[in-house]
Amino acid sequence: SIPLSFFAGIGGASKVGVLVKGSNYLESLSQARIVVFDKTGTLTQGVFEVNGIHHSEMENAKLVEYAALAESASSHPISKSLQRAYGKEMDRSRVSQIQEIGGNGVTAVVDGHTVAAGNDKLMERLGIPYISCHSVGTIVHVAIDGQYAGHIVISDMVKSTSKQAIQALKSAGVHKTVMLTGDAERVAAQVAAELEVDQVYSQLLPADKVEKVEELLARKQGKEKLAFVGDGINDAPVLARADIGIAMGAMGSDAAIEAADVVLMDDDPMQIAKAIKISRKCLGIVY
Ligand code: ADP
Ligand code: MG
Repeated sequence: SIPLSFFAGIGGASKVGVLVKGSNYLESLSQARIVVFDKTGTLTQGVFEVNGIHHSEMENAKLVEYAALAESASSHPISKSLQRAYGKEMDRSRVSQIQEIGGNGVTAVVDGHTVAAGNDKLMERLGIPYISCHSVGTIVHVAIDGQYAGHIVISDMVKSTSKQAIQALKSAGVHKTVMLTGDAERVAAQVAAELEVDQVYSQLLPADKVEKVEELLARKQGKEKLAFVGDGINDAPVLARADIGIAMGAMGSDAAIEAADVVLMDDDPMQIAKAIKISRKCLGIVY
């Protein structure tokens, strides 16, 4: 039989904005020893700002306009930053054949021109030579009709409580913290160093993140459990694969809430250590 305290725990957790899908997850949460994070929107704010535009011949405004229109159907934080930089009402009738490639970017037809906006990998997939760029920030390359048109440099900031959240997990007995990201190595390394996460893997496609989590699961010992924390954009399969899938921010996608075992109502990473502590407390575990 299931002890009543499990339900009390679930109720208590919900009061602080931690929704646990079932009592078995409360138990898994109490045994979390490895915590794997997605970067964008989880450890960082996921609010990118445009801070540089480099083009070949095209005007800056035109480059941003094409990129923003091509991204007009995406809910990715990068798309939102481009919409803000464009600053005008989107005329969606100018855009067709939109395709979003998770972890890479988008392609679409804008005013009859084929536009691609995304990272190095997207340009490589499309066979478009791009200018490799060393500025600090995430790069969105833009190609029009198969020709490189330039790139937009955007950057994000770590959340104010991310570093403290990593420390809190370590004091709660988590012995390994890992960050996974589809972003470039340079950006990933900088964020990981700032937050003092133990391991970092960059340039991952959504499927590569599942593979990394599987590798980490295969190396776990005894009863220890692995939790994955993500904002849900592209990471539902990883949420499903982890011992405990934690979706952050109740505004996350329905697919993420569906795939997750634990849902955090707000997007403060401190909630993770709090959730682990509450689970132990209600199971009577003294750590
Ligand atoms: P993270 O792993 O940090 O959560 P994502 O997997 O969502 O990030 O995206 C990884 C990378 O893929 C981004 O850093 C960006 O280079 C590229 N990317 C993803 N979606 C888009 C998009 N809509 N527009 C441009 N680039 C994108
Ligand atoms: Mg993500």
